[in-house]
Amino acid sequence: MKRLVILGGGESGVGAAILGKDKGMDVFLSDSGNIPARYRSVLDDEGIAYEEGGHSMDRILSADEVVKSPGIPPTAPVVREIVARGIPVISEIELAGRYTDARMVCITGSNGKTTTTLLTYHILKDAGVDVGLAGNVGQSLALQVSRSDHDVYVIELSSFQLENMYDFHANIAVILNITPDHLDRYDYEMQNYINAKFRILNNLTPRDAFIYWQDDPVIRRQLERVTTEAAQFPFAEQREEGSAAWVDPEGEMCVETPAESFTMPRADLSLNGLHNLYNSMAAAISACILRIDKEEIRKALGNFEGVEHRLEPAGTVDGVRYINDSKATNVNSTWYALESMPRDTILILGGKDKGNDYSEILPLVKEKVKAIVCMGKDNTKLLDFFSAEVPAIYDTHSIVEAVATCASVAVSGDTVLLSPCCASFDLFKSYEDRGQQFKEQVKALMDKA
Ligand code: ADP
Repeated sequence: MKRLVILGGGESGVGAAILGKDKGMDVFLSDSGNIPARYRSVLDDEGIAYEEGGHSMDRILSADEVVKSPGIPPTAPVVREIVARGIPVISEIELAGRYTDARMVCITGSNGKTTTTLLTYHILKDAGVDVGLAGNVGQSLALQVSRSDHDVYVIELSSFQLENMYDFHANIAVILNITPDHLDRYDYEMQNYINAKFRILNNLTPRDAFIYWQDDPVIRRQLERVTTEAAQFPFAEQREEGSAAWVDPEGEMCVETPAESFTMPRADLSLNGLHNLYNSMAAAISACILRIDKEEIRKALGNFEGVEHRLEPAGTVDGVRYINDSKATNVNSTWYALESMPRDTILILGGKDKGNDYSEILPLVKEKVKAIVCMGKDNTKLLDFFSAEVPAIYDTHSIVEAVATCASVAVSGDTVLLSPCCASFDLFKSYEDRGQQFKEQVKALMDKA
């Protein structure tokens, strides 16, 4: 009997454990921390052996194969020891991919993965396709493959997941963009991060598709070094040689694949901003390749409701619009948020800085921002960088203080944008918690008004 060890008792680990059990393997799950109660009860109900609060190395090192949660770095001592023994380490997606013939639409990139994944899923689902949502969002792929397999999956893949994928085969692979992120996990070498992202192209055949942003300098450079047999479908804001999607001078978003050509007015897309044009193009190309009815694609691109904490309207008080973009945890995502803002924006920035270079957003800040409200435990770096660049800057240390400051500075017609550029862990549990608290503060303002 094959011995499968799973490291990590979260969504992907528990899904992998269930799939392993269903396929007749001897499964053991080990987590160095606490396993959330809901997953413990699933493991109990399924009769799967597990431990938490530490690793029993003897048992782990007797594995034939190990499935590692993407959150555990390859440098963790337990992983190093497994690798030193020559035991193969794979991801949950790799395991699941062995047991399904479904078509796989796989989406990666530094920013826009969740939005594009949910948008693509929305188009396919509304068109009546038997489709599952997996990866960083929704249920694990392994669980679905084992208990409720679908014809098609739309899968959000982070670079961490891609690291341990080897034979997995995507049918449609999307790389939205590559900008510096998570470099702490890649020895501060951008190339290591790029290589991880490009693993999405592994095993593509001429019958498969590769969709990417044509103007991304990093993707372009990497494409000079690597080759793929897949058909290529690049997208760009304006048509270039080989573009599969673009916007024409009349404002029509055009998509052209060998199977389909499709157009709709850019103004009818439900998601706003240049970044969301790219996300919409990637989703539309995927849908055309899958031969979804054009009217269905148009309808779904026009009525998608957006994703919480991504440029999400949080309310209007006294003529001031509040926008929650709490998921913007790096400089590039804040750049795109600002790009889609009008002038007279009041920007809430701050949190745990991951080594940010703020000069990238400086031109947009100068053009559109009338005040910056810093919100963090320690705002020194922001204050030093921006004080001389904006008409007003404020030092705050809580969401209550930050929103109150915005409300006192803003006048009718202004926009308050929470797009912090930084991780949330100094003052909040997560970016979701930060966004939620922001929305509560805005709601309190609305109730008072
Ligand atoms: P991810 O899942 O890759 O983190 P999300 O869809 O959650 O991406 O969006 C994260 C942040 O990045 C949001 O704040 C959003 O405004 C911004 N963003 C979304 N799509 C893009 C894109 N194509 N390019 C750059 N930034 C983007």
